[in-house]
Amino acid sequence: ADEDSVSVSLPLPSILTSSRESKWNDTNAYGSKKKIQSWLQLPNGDWELVKIITTSGAESVISLPNGKVLKVKEDSLVPANPDILDGVDDLMQLSYLNEPSVLFNLQYRYNHNMIYTKAGPVLVAVNPFKKVPLYGNDYIESYKCKTIESPHVYAITDTAIREMIRVCPLILILLSIFSGESGAGKTETAKIAMQYLAALGGGSGIENEILKTNPILEAFGNGKTLRNDNSSRFGKLIEIHFSEAGKISGANIQTLVYEQSRVVQCNEGERSYHIFYQLCAGAPSSLREKLNLLSVEEYKYLKQSNCYSITGVDDAEEFRTVKEALDVVHISKGDQENVFAMLAAVLWLGNISFTVVDNENHVQAVEDEGLFTVAKLIGCDVENLKLTLSTRKMKVGNDNIVQKLTLSQAIDARDALAKSIYACLFDWLVEQINKSLAVGKRQTGRSISILDIYGFESFNRNSFEQFCINYANERLQQHFNRHLFKLEQEEYIQDGIDWAKVEFEDNQDCLNLFEKKPLGLLSLIDEESTFPNGTDLTFANKLKQHLNSNSCFKGEREKAFTVRHYAGEVTYDTTGFLEKNRDLLHLDSIQLLSSSKCHLPKLFGSHMLTQSEKPVVGPLHKSGGADSQKLSVATKFKGQLFQLMQRLESTSPHFIRCIKPNNLQSPGSYEQSLVLQQLRCCGVLEVVRISRSGFPTRVSHQKFSRRYGFLLLENVASQDPLSVSVSILHQFNILPEMYQVGYTKLFFRTGQTGVLEDTRNRT
Ligand code: ATP
Ligand code: MG
Repeated sequence: ADEDSVSVSLPLPSILTSSRESKWNDTNAYGSKKKIQSWLQLPNGDWELVKIITTSGAESVISLPNGKVLKVKEDSLVPANPDILDGVDDLMQLSYLNEPSVLFNLQYRYNHNMIYTKAGPVLVAVNPFKKVPLYGNDYIESYKCKTIESPHVYAITDTAIREMIRVCPLILILLSIFSGESGAGKTETAKIAMQYLAALGGGSGIENEILKTNPILEAFGNGKTLRNDNSSRFGKLIEIHFSEAGKISGANIQTLVYEQSRVVQCNEGERSYHIFYQLCAGAPSSLREKLNLLSVEEYKYLKQSNCYSITGVDDAEEFRTVKEALDVVHISKGDQENVFAMLAAVLWLGNISFTVVDNENHVQAVEDEGLFTVAKLIGCDVENLKLTLSTRKMKVGNDNIVQKLTLSQAIDARDALAKSIYACLFDWLVEQINKSLAVGKRQTGRSISILDIYGFESFNRNSFEQFCINYANERLQQHFNRHLFKLEQEEYIQDGIDWAKVEFEDNQDCLNLFEKKPLGLLSLIDEESTFPNGTDLTFANKLKQHLNSNSCFKGEREKAFTVRHYAGEVTYDTTGFLEKNRDLLHLDSIQLLSSSKCHLPKLFGSHMLTQSEKPVVGPLHKSGGADSQKLSVATKFKGQLFQLMQRLESTSPHFIRCIKPNNLQSPGSYEQSLVLQQLRCCGVLEVVRISRSGFPTRVSHQKFSRRYGFLLLENVASQDPLSVSVSILHQFNILPEMYQVGYTKLFFRTGQTGVLEDTRNRT
């Protein structure tokens, strides 16, 4: 038998067979040295609450809830909290802060529909995957009046509003919502926060416009993935501006777009962007005729993933919602129709086919319904379109030559055109929305921003899209770490106070792996993308050659490599990496679009140029290679990400971490190991630990002595602020372990200045 855990069949004491609540109420557990209740890790990794019967030496005899009695090593047990602490609403209150206790606490609350829990300064939200009775006007009112205090998105949003009003308006406030997983509930949480802001700061009507940006951006930027039926494929920072009186005066949206490939391809069981299905299902017959719309099954781009609908979603109904929302943000009916025409053009592009025209396998676009419809919809000449899709103009020496394309080159050119039309459309929409929501001259500098980006992704097969998304999450994780750990520790150290360090996972090494020049993942992919003979295999080999010594990198067989992300290891398959990274849109296509009679003003003009680093001149194409003067997709992505980070750095953040309790998108199921992995990767325990061991309230000696100095019994007029502060602390008998005196500031543990405030208010 296994020596460490011997099962001894003893007759069961009745106390052990009953439920925890009724019989395991050992009042002496709390604070007592003898751990009556403990957590034992089962072979499957889950934790079980056990009772210790006896302990001798390094071994304990314990009993499981099912009555089994085991002998285990004492160090395999982790102390459990007394029942009285079951389901506390701030993890800070737990006597024993360990993984199983935190897991159990969240699960306890989750089972009671309390999906929000504080982890010190961070709000943890566990996705209920069902309607929970926690929202709406009554709740908003209660949080506003503070008649309810339990943790909630409303509560953290309320804190943000108060901070904005109270603190100097130059400080921008940020609600940062991100977590390790796709489908954890970030976008829903962002909307709930926006509702609260709209309810408190509403009045001018602009709040309704702001809320209506959600259905629009979700229609164009979200799609069904294997992880989430409404997965955000773009990142968004919405900055909501307020007047001096605390009323919403406007807003601005900044996006971080990454997944263009979804427009032309997605995996089995996933969908492209919602708007395509909405348009096909919901367009009235006149529009249908005008755009020559087919049903979704007839479009090749939509057909390949074999998934057309989402359970519980009526695309036609959603289409009406989107149109209404477009009205609200002042996009004219005419422009709306043009938007739909461009969407139809994208769909029809996918149906264009090619025939081989010579014995060198060169192709030409077939003159069929597809080609004619696309030409009509984007307002260009059929011949011109045909030429653009089948040839490429090149300059060799001083000669202009026209190169014919092979089938795969032609398909790439066609798909690149479809993707860039969609990208332009997305940017154009955001621009229009921003115009409609613009604050104008009345800007006060008061604002609350809400960040909602795509979550960390790890599939069985991970490609370039996951590579970009996970890189972005890595950056955001560092922002989180810096705020909650590094800056905190630095502040203590700078002020010379004695304070035990809390270890946290720093992800700088992983970021270096991505960003280092010239030997980082991003540089290497760009380099290989510009080599005419670069392939996914040469790229993978290059990574292995240069990065194998990096602890966050592991070369895998053939074309794969693994990155050790903060949220876990992800193995990427480099198939298609280079192609997705090269922006394959040719100059010919750019010219075609700029000359098109498309009615959306400037849709193609300015946006096309921003796609290139500089105006495209000179020798354009290396044979077979990418256009060397255009920015790669990865580089553009990094640029956008850095812009976003810059904005984040200037804000005072409040963090919400969303947790996905199961992978089935279903209510009532709480998988411990899945939750634990997310808690670990977002550092929830460390946050609590640092907050508990820390001194969250800080006041400068000047401010403190000015505010409370007059309460002193002795005359201290001649003394310096530091001495006055210390006298105040002594006079009010503030316990020494409750504060620290720094060079410039006093640091207090939570709740210590209350007595001073009370006395001050009474005098
Ligand atoms: P991604 O990274 O893929 O964009 P996400 O974190 O934004 O994922 P959401 O789209 O917000 O995830 O949530 C996924 C689904 O979970 C929602 O469509 C909804 O069904 C459910 N959900 C999330 N939060 C809540 C909530 N507070 N109440 C009810 N259901 C919720
Ligand atoms: Mg989302």
